[in-house]
Amino acid sequence: MSRVLLLHTGGTLGMKGSPLEPGEFQDRLAEYVPEIEQLADVTTRVIANLDSSDIGPAHWTDLAQAIDEDYESYDGFVVVHGTDTMAYSASALAFALENLGKPVVFTGAQRPLSAVRSDAPRNLTDAVDLATRDIPEVGICFDGLFIRGCRATKTSAQDYRGFDSRECPPLAKLGVDVSIADHVLRRAGEYRCDARFDPEVIYIQVTPGLRPERFEAILQTGVKGVVLSAFGLGTIPSSNGPLGPVVADAVASGIEVLVVTASTGNVDFGLYRNSLPLRDAGAISGGTMHMEASISKLMHALAVYDDRDERRVYLERNVAGERD
Ligand code: ASP
Repeated sequence: MSRVLLLHTGGTLGMKGSPLEPGEFQDRLAEYVPEIEQLADVTTRVIANLDSSDIGPAHWTDLAQAIDEDYESYDGFVVVHGTDTMAYSASALAFALENLGKPVVFTGAQRPLSAVRSDAPRNLTDAVDLATRDIPEVGICFDGLFIRGCRATKTSAQDYRGFDSRECPPLAKLGVDVSIADHVLRRAGEYRCDARFDPEVIYIQVTPGLRPERFEAILQTGVKGVVLSAFGLGTIPSSNGPLGPVVADAVASGIEVLVVTASTGNVDFGLYRNSLPLRDAGAISGGTMHMEASISKLMHALAVYDDRDERRVYLERNVAGERD
């Protein structure tokens, strides 16, 4: 029988009360969902028991290290996690666990395990099943889909279909049968873990009429990296003064500026005149990367690469299927 390590971090799945708060279910998951024992020999370990709004880079490090320490002892890993920041944590692990050769399956629920009509038993059972299969990726298992972690976004706090992966079809579908897609990554290199993240990253959404001085003020707070979410394929407004020189000063002072799009599509600095100031300033195109992946990737890049050229090459490279 396959061996699966289940790492509990908290979230609605194990919550109780009103308002909902972390409960004591973490040690009793198999009692509530006995089917998981039919699928695998499951060992449970509690990393944290938090609402995922309290999960951050330090917990990503703990999680990645927990997987790394027991990497050889298990066939796959399940991470029980709140849905609010699950896509950030899944992205972070996709970058920390390089050349992954086993499944790391995040899951959670929109209704607690103890509630009627909960989606928790199905999600947990599906996640344990996926963790026994040959899908060597970090992903999110929710409502019958397994989607790439570094492409995932929480799209609904109401529907059981809580996640979507923009521009990347599901890695697996769990219906009557489990079908695994052909685009599952199969990496040739040697597995290794680097669980460092530098939290000094901020996300700024470009909005109509944005004043460059506001942007400049934020840059003076000690940030080391900015994910700049621009319009469309990477355009920024110039009506209230040029943003380009502020970005150029930031880049010259050592701050990394990674540009993603607030919509979907591939950031292309060459297509519109209103993107050229970003290119000329030395900003990095995030390609098709979305918010959650770009933030965790930039935190990882800042912690791992001291050499700026190497860091920029890493940010522009498709590391874990997060960009085209
Ligand atoms: N607030 C919860 C959390 O992210 C929501 C959930 O788990 O669905 O921990």
